[in-house]
Amino acid sequence: MEQMVIVGAGPAGISAALYAKRGNLDPLVINNGIGALEKAEKIENYYGLPEAIPGKQLFENGIAQAKALGIRILEAQVLGIEGFDTFEIKTTAGDFEAVSVILATGSARKAPKITGLKEFEGRGVSYCAICDAFFYRGKEVAILGHGDYALHEAEILSHTASKVTILTDGKEPEFTDVSFEVVKQKVEAIEGEGTVTGLRLADGSMVQAAGIFVAAGTAGSSDIARQMGAELTEKGHIKVNEDMESTIPGLYAAGDCTGGLLQVAKAVHEGAAAGLAASKYVRGRG
Ligand SMILES: Cc1cc2nc3c(=O)[nH]c(=O)nc-3n(C[C@H](O)[C@H](O)[C@H](O)COP(=O)(O)OP(=O)(O)OC[C@H]3O[C@@H](n4cnc5c(N)ncnc54)[C@H](O)[C@@H]3O)c2cc1C
Repeated sequence: MEQMVIVGAGPAGISAALYAKRGNLDPLVINNGIGALEKAEKIENYYGLPEAIPGKQLFENGIAQAKALGIRILEAQVLGIEGFDTFEIKTTAGDFEAVSVILATGSARKAPKITGLKEFEGRGVSYCAICDAFFYRGKEVAILGHGDYALHEAEILSHTASKVTILTDGKEPEFTDVSFEVVKQKVEAIEGEGTVTGLRLADGSMVQAAGIFVAAGTAGSSDIARQMGAELTEKGHIKVNEDMESTIPGLYAAGDCTGGLLQVAKAVHEGAAAGLAASKYVRGRG
């Protein structure tokens, strides 16, 4: 059993890990590579930088700092987290169990730009298989996505839906050997009357579906939190208290995924606060 799993190795995740490790805990950081810093050409407004530093360099410095302290860093994609008392973290590198989890996964993922997607949200378009699968029992559903996260969502839905089709929207699937039908064509639009009835493909043909589950790219923080039943803010960020704890005891969040100021300084501060609070929580659990 892990004491603490931190999802994300950006400023928030690494900061949380540094505070936990220096408090004599042994956190495990799981990450999928660089986050927002990849696109930050230069950072020059963070404390202690006499010269601007490329975002990529700042990310690598953070990883090196953590490794120098003996923090374990695993490159893998988190597909979902289950549990309440202890947490089961499902990743592309296997499953882990932990007493506490800190989500530091950065900003929410962007949904694909498909006509009708926004319009049908809550009326057939869903972002959470585990939350909504029950509504589609015995019905045909479609998953929008091309990676392991899409496959993970498809497997959850396969227990209730009559048929699951994965639509990669023009992308090459990252998985092989799946038992689901995979459609690689671009998706033109989501169609329906009141509620979703299907998706129109680039060649004009239709894929029938009463439910469409968006699982493009990797699972974002709000996807994971939503799956777990944690409360989100109106803007879809994870709701936290002053200790960075979500509405689920033992589940913390820090950095861009809690919304507000999207800056390194705020991510580092929240990471530190979450690392300290989660350490206290773990100690309290014995
Ligand atoms: C173009 C641009 C310019 C910027 N310029 C500045 C600037 O000048 N100054 C400044 O202060 N800030 C700047 N920022 C903002 C800054 O980069 C972010 O505020 C900061 O990186 C947020 O840190 P974070 O740790 O919350 O998330 P991120 O840095 O985004 O890190 C997220 C981490 O989560 C991991 N992750 C996500 N999902 C999963 C998953 N399912 N499984 C496993 N791992 C996962 C990622 O791999 C990554 O390691 C800029 C951002 C951009 C896009």
